[in-house]
Amino acid sequence: MDMKTVLSIIDAEKVEYVDFRIVDLLGRQHHVTVPAYAVDEGTFKNGVAFDGSSLTGYKSIEESDMVAMPDPSTAFLDPFVEAKTLNIVCNIVNPDNTPYTRDPRGIALRAEAYLQQTGLATAAYFGPESEFFLFDSVRYDSGPSGSFFHIDSEEAFWNTGKEGQNLGYKVRNKGGYFPVQPTDSQMDIRNEMCTLMTKAGLHVERHHHEVATAGQGEINFRFDTLTRTADNLLLFKYIVRNVAAKHGKTATFMPKPIVGDNGSGMHVHQSLFNGDTPLFYEQGGYANLSETALYYIGGILHHAPALIALTNPSTNSFKRLVPGYEAPVNLVFSKGNRSAAVRIPVAAVTPKASRIEFRTPDSTANPYLAFAAMLMAGLDGIKRKLDPRELGYGPLDRNIYDLSDAEKHEIKRAPGSLEEALTALEQDHAFLLEGDVFNKEVIESWIALKRADIQQVERTVNPKEFELYYDL
Ligand code: GLU
Ligand code: MG
Ligand code: MG
Repeated sequence: MDMKTVLSIIDAEKVEYVDFRIVDLLGRQHHVTVPAYAVDEGTFKNGVAFDGSSLTGYKSIEESDMVAMPDPSTAFLDPFVEAKTLNIVCNIVNPDNTPYTRDPRGIALRAEAYLQQTGLATAAYFGPESEFFLFDSVRYDSGPSGSFFHIDSEEAFWNTGKEGQNLGYKVRNKGGYFPVQPTDSQMDIRNEMCTLMTKAGLHVERHHHEVATAGQGEINFRFDTLTRTADNLLLFKYIVRNVAAKHGKTATFMPKPIVGDNGSGMHVHQSLFNGDTPLFYEQGGYANLSETALYYIGGILHHAPALIALTNPSTNSFKRLVPGYEAPVNLVFSKGNRSAAVRIPVAAVTPKASRIEFRTPDSTANPYLAFAAMLMAGLDGIKRKLDPRELGYGPLDRNIYDLSDAEKHEIKRAPGSLEEALTALEQDHAFLLEGDVFNKEVIESWIALKRADIQQVERTVNPKEFELYYDL
């Protein structure tokens, strides 16, 4: 969709408001709304001014003027606003029209431009599987010792039906995947999400309840190019959250909301193409992978400790990355094996659908930064011919959780904490600076922002501490 088409839709559909959306460094969307009668060609040429000083990770108060430059190809009608409203995703530029280097969407676009420059492929495709929980209520408790979210355990664990109903049984631990209704009490709500996603332009492939006891869902939409997929992921989260809110629920993408049950990941399927030719397929190799695919995997696993600071950037992320919950802990690749960081899907895979699945990421990532960083790691692997087999990253087709301690010792592990990942990123980020895709300043700001999270969490008294120490 170009500017002229958008302007004619505004006219034909009697759109009343246009909502311009930008994303902050953490991946949260923000918006500024303009009455449709005030939107014209000039809006698309000159952009919409906004004050960037209060956005996390952005400019200081002295230099706060910024411009949101609309990308007309992202326009869609908002299903949640009463007055007819068209949403448009924007890039952020400085007042002199140069790209703002911290704009995550700008970083994603530069990663795609860099891919073209390398001549290694013409397109990189990304397909995220973002899992989430829907809870009936989340109470926010704050007290003198700090604040924390308290999930009503009765609801979180045994929420098998609508408020006040007793269905006469409880879903077994990890029993959510995937008995039919009434064990699955969220069929209607996921359907409603999918209907709105389809109307907003996503191609939904399937949805299902996920493994956690109750209330965990997954909706898959079709892969696309890097920046487009990051746009789509924000649209997806927007719809999940707003449909949940309409039903009096909250959606959370935090990786480990419930102790002792499965967490929520965001596995990311990835492949490279040259025009119509898939570059990850070669019949006869391990899992029918080409050499290019193997080197791409080598790049991802070699840079994984640093990469994880962008793909798993919350203190909570590392509570998901523990053994026993289908989340990967070890840096190996494998066909089919869900306990490996990189899995090669082999069921029903054609050459064109040949791809790798990086299972470590979660949805607390800013998708623009995370996808860009994964592509940069993979491309570095191809350029340096980083063979994952020679570097000790597998393939490993046994269940990693079943290996003996000695065998496990041989396997490289993902960082165990956000601090470890940030330290790795501090030491290993040259691959991100290629082609000026990321710059040093944005990486430093990211590390500082995330270290501030760690400090807050460390200084907060944790409910578990009461259990362990209260009566000691
Ligand atoms: N919820 C699991 C995770 O944390 C993944 C389950 C699946 O294989 O889809 O990654
Ligand atoms: Mg899943
Ligand atoms: Mg998956």
